[in-house]
Amino acid sequence: MTRKYLSFGYDTERPYGEFAQTKIGSELRKKLMGFIRKLNGMFDQEDVPRTFFILGHYLEACLTDYDIDALREVYHKDNPLIELQQHSYSHPIIRKIKGREEKKVITSGEFIKDLQQAGEVIENILGVYPNGVRTPIGYHHDLSDMPEILEGMQGMGIRYVSSNLRSEDSLEAPLNRNRQPHDYGNIGYPTIVEMPSHGWQDVIFTKEKAAIFLGREPDSQEKICKHFDELLLQANDIDLPVVNIALCLHPWAVMEYDPQFEIHKHIINSARSMGFELKSYGQVADMFRHEMK
Ligand SMILES: [Zn+2]
Repeated sequence: MTRKYLSFGYDTERPYGEFAQTKIGSELRKKLMGFIRKLNGMFDQEDVPRTFFILGHYLEACLTDYDIDALREVYHKDNPLIELQQHSYSHPIIRKIKGREEKKVITSGEFIKDLQQAGEVIENILGVYPNGVRTPIGYHHDLSDMPEILEGMQGMGIRYVSSNLRSEDSLEAPLNRNRQPHDYGNIGYPTIVEMPSHGWQDVIFTKEKAAIFLGREPDSQEKICKHFDELLLQANDIDLPVVNIALCLHPWAVMEYDPQFEIHKHIINSARSMGFELKSYGQVADMFRHEMK
């Protein structure tokens, strides 16, 4: 009998950069802060764990409008259902991405420095050192070709990285046996686990990204629910003892396409009725890690 896990992960990043210092940026930050409180309330009520991958620059900019106590209350590190991890400091990319050719690619060394900065900022503000990373944007394969990055992550005490987040041509990441959690023992880093994500990155359900990537209006609520139901059903076709589905979501996007959490509750109910256990990214990664003894 296959064990099935579902993980909710939120790339928590807006507003960042210069925009974060503007009045509109500040308004968005406050709106999102209220929304993240509501999101956490819903998850607590449903007894479901979730992971926030926090962008360092976003969090630092939050200090414009909030003090440390207020931020610690929202991103409650002592809540056993909340996992706090990082999404880099400045949202850089490490490989060329099709359709995003204008974005500057930084070196592995620069990337590790950016992650270190994020780790420090998150530890200083939220009082927790993140040992999991979601790479910005995401790629259609893992980091096996970038040992320098894994070396740097290992030095930082990183225990998992979620970098394989899409297919080559779209923000939809397939669910199959090759895109399951695995450690990087293949290139000498058995303590670091790759956590691929599955299904559409949810930004595609917003007006902004549907227009850019699909050239049309975003899907209806019904269609979005159907997408996730089909994704959950596909787990039954994978002949492995354990199948993980990890979602790549964004609070700013959820606020637009699922403000009352109807879609979220639908996914939670569907997953439970199909026999999924709801786990955080970190909990799943721990099950797939081969520690060096
Ligand atoms: Zn991001």
